[in-house]
Formats: sequence, structure tokens, C-alpha cells
Amino acid sequence: MSTKNSFLFSVDLEDVRDFIPDGKKYKEAVPVNTIKYLDWLDKVNAKATFFIVGKTARDYPDVIKEIIKRGHETACHTDTHIHLTKLTEAEFRKDCESFLNTMNKLGAVSVKGFRAPTFSMVEQSKWAYSVLNDFGFSYSSSVLPSTNPIFGWPEFKGEGFYDCIYELPMNIGTWPFKVPFGGGVYFRFFPTFILNQLFGSAFQNNSPVFSYLHPYDVDTDQERFMHPHLNDSKALNWLMYVNRSEVFERMEYLMKKLDAGIMRYDEYLKPKLTNK
Ligand SMILES: [Zn+2]
Repeated sequence: MSTKNSFLFSVDLEDVRDFIPDGKKYKEAVPVNTIKYLDWLDKVNAKATFFIVGKTARDYPDVIKEIIKRGHETACHTDTHIHLTKLTEAEFRKDCESFLNTMNKLGAVSVKGFRAPTFSMVEQSKWAYSVLNDFGFSYSSSVLPSTNPIFGWPEFKGEGFYDCIYELPMNIGTWPFKVPFGGGVYFRFFPTFILNQLFGSAFQNNSPVFSYLHPYDVDTDQERFMHPHLNDSKALNWLMYVNRSEVFERMEYLMKKLDAGIMRYDEYLKPKLTNK
């Protein structure tokens, strides 16, 4: 398969029920939807990266073992999904320690990647890079280099080393689509001809496309409830449910049309991190 156009497909593995009041009254969704991703990746013969929340790994150890068994990269999405801006440095150290203990017990041999919850790596939380370095991480994919209703770091200079950690910021589309189009709500909401243009222009600029999806992005059986971090907006919550059944079809369409190949983040970064 040609991998001229790299599609860095990733899943942020978390249980949305942990972030809403009384969430456990809703249906369990992590195992069944993770298996959907794993089966689809097998179908297209690709290996991807799973950014995992430590608590979710403790709740579903067999799911994590299956991800490892099928040859995917396991990376860190913090231990309990608290935004970096709400943590002190000491708390973040404890968080990393707890996450890595969990993953070691589950047989993850080398965890090198990190993604901040809700892209909360911003100017005020950039101290986190040196903590990540202390814990042996090599790269992060945690920055949204744009203004955004939740988090964003518009002055961010671009991919490269920050305190010895290689940061791969999200792709932001060209005007008027200045949003991270490769995953989540935007990937599901935009018509495929727009996605085709946005992916195509990233590839033309020799950039990979970063994709971030979640178990809920392909959960077609989930009950209706207000999702976290949306300021109770009904319109945004509606978007949380849009086109969930089309995710894999869209991926396959774009990969074929643009001759793109899925890669694990650590594979993509190998040539850039050889001296580290
Ligand atoms: Zn997350």
C-alpha cells in the first residue's frame, strides 16, 4: 500500500459515561465500539494508535489486551481525563505514574505517545512537556493550533520539539473550515466532498492528517444525553450524534480517493525521533 499520504488514525479511548453525572445508568459502550474499530482496522489491514485513559484501561483490561494483541500502538490520554489546566505539576506526575503502572500491568511494553484531554495543552499548561519527558514519553499530539470554544493555542508555532517532546499539533482546515477536521464531530458532520478537499490540501502540503475518534463516534446505539464540555448546548449535543454510522465508510472513501495509508503515530515519527 502506498503511504505517500499518511493518515494518522487514532482513537481516544475513554468512557464518556465517566464524565457525566450518574453516567453509569447508560449502556456500557467501550468494549463493543472498540472492537468495531479493531475489526475495521483488520479489514483495511492497518495499524493505528489508541490514546488510552488509565481508568478506562482498569475498567476494561481485556479490551486493552486485545488492542496490544492486534498490533496497535498504545499511548496515554492521562489517567483520569482531567484537563491539564486543572492539574498542578505534582498532580500530573501522579497521574502519569498511575497510568504507566496500569499499562505495564496490562503488558504495554513501551508507551511513547501522549494526548492531552480535550486538547488542553495550551500556553498555561506547557510545563507538562517536561513532566512527559521525565516519564519517558517521546511525543505528544495535544495541541489545537487555533482559537476554539473549548481549548486552543493559536500562537503555536508548528510541529517540533518542545522540552524534548515532539509535538504533532492537529490539522486545522483552510478558511472557512478552520477546525480540526480529521476527527470527532467535524469529521462526521462535514459532507465528504469538503473532507476530500481538506484532506487533499493537507496532503498537498506534505502534512499527514491527524484523526481523533472516540468509542462514541461509532456508537449507533447510545442513548440521548447531554455530553460533557459542551456548555449544555443543544445544537452541539445534536452534532455529537450526527452520522455515526458513516465513519468507516467515509474513511475508506477518503483513503481510496486520496491514496492515503493509515499509520501508527510512532511509525510515522521514527525518522524524526532517531536522535532522541
Ligand atoms: Zn478525551
